[in-house]
Amino acid sequence: MRAARLYGVGDLRVEEVPDPRPKAGEALVRIHASGVCPSDIRSYTGVKATREPWTPGHEIAGVIVALGADAPDSPGGSPAFPGSTPESSGGAAGPWGVGDRVAVDWRGVCGVCRQCERGAANFCQNVVSYPIAGFADLTTMPLRQLRRLPDEVSFEAASFCEPLACVLNAHRTIPVGLGADVLVVGAGPIGLLHTQVAAGRGARVIVLDRLADRLDVARTCGAHDVVVAGDDDGGAAEVRELTEGYGPDAVIVTVGIPSVIQAALTMAGKNATVNLFAGTHPKGTIAVNPDIPHYDQVSINGSHDFTPHDFSTALRLLRFGMVDTAPLVSHRFDLADITKAFETTRAQTGLKSIVVAG
Ligand SMILES: [Zn+2]
Ligand SMILES: [Zn+2]
Repeated sequence: MRAARLYGVGDLRVEEVPDPRPKAGEALVRIHASGVCPSDIRSYTGVKATREPWTPGHEIAGVIVALGADAPDSPGGSPAFPGSTPESSGGAAGPWGVGDRVAVDWRGVCGVCRQCERGAANFCQNVVSYPIAGFADLTTMPLRQLRRLPDEVSFEAASFCEPLACVLNAHRTIPVGLGADVLVVGAGPIGLLHTQVAAGRGARVIVLDRLADRLDVARTCGAHDVVVAGDDDGGAAEVRELTEGYGPDAVIVTVGIPSVIQAALTMAGKNATVNLFAGTHPKGTIAVNPDIPHYDQVSINGSHDFTPHDFSTALRLLRFGMVDTAPLVSHRFDLADITKAFETTRAQTGLKSIVVAG
């Protein structure tokens, strides 16, 4: 099969490698859609140290083409998380089989540690990060990490299960009342998922970005208002005006730039929650005026990764049309053009790039 392999900074090669073989309890999956994520780009540009050479890609969907030797009748699913059975996301019930269309969850959680037990499996102490190696023709994965796709969910949409699951984990920590003002900072693919989820929760959503073409897409994703972040005040005055001087009730910052995070904090209304959704790369710091959390009762929180339940819920939102990923996909590439796909994402040209099977 073909696999993209990252040898070093900017050195991504498509090579012929032996087909992976599924072990007992695993499936061999032919990959049909594999999303390019900013974390892949950080490895590619050297911001994140990489073990070399390796195959990036962790947002994938595909078809089971073989099952590990003694697993043909395995019901799949983890005993601790019945959510990861084949039927959990609305697919047909029954054992896994060749031909099943699936999405792949790369976080293997134990289900029994204290974090899992309290519902915070995104912080599982025994997490196994399965290398999905999504920029390849084939990959293997334990059956318990798969979700069977309902017919109405395309491979391309299903490749958004992972980022959407991260967004849903954040929303469990962000109080959003009906009609509340929510400001989403950053209209990249993640900001546009937040926009749809916040709108779905009944919020009035304002999206802020420097790029006007991204804001056009934000409108099609349910943003009620958009603000161009100009050089003067980053859009602060306009946000204040749109919220009748009160400031938003929640601010979701999807940009990992300290100055942007700091500016977003000053835009929050009294009693607001500010969710820091993006890490800073390289690691940054901000100066927080302590009077913002104190006198204005602004809560600053954050969120990271997702639980198996978030992943299954993401698939349900896609299935029932509550989140539409079509407007988020700006580029499709064959695996042979993986470097072009990475360069497109690096340059922030368009929105999401997806590697699709021809
Ligand atoms: Zn990702
Ligand atoms: Zn655990």
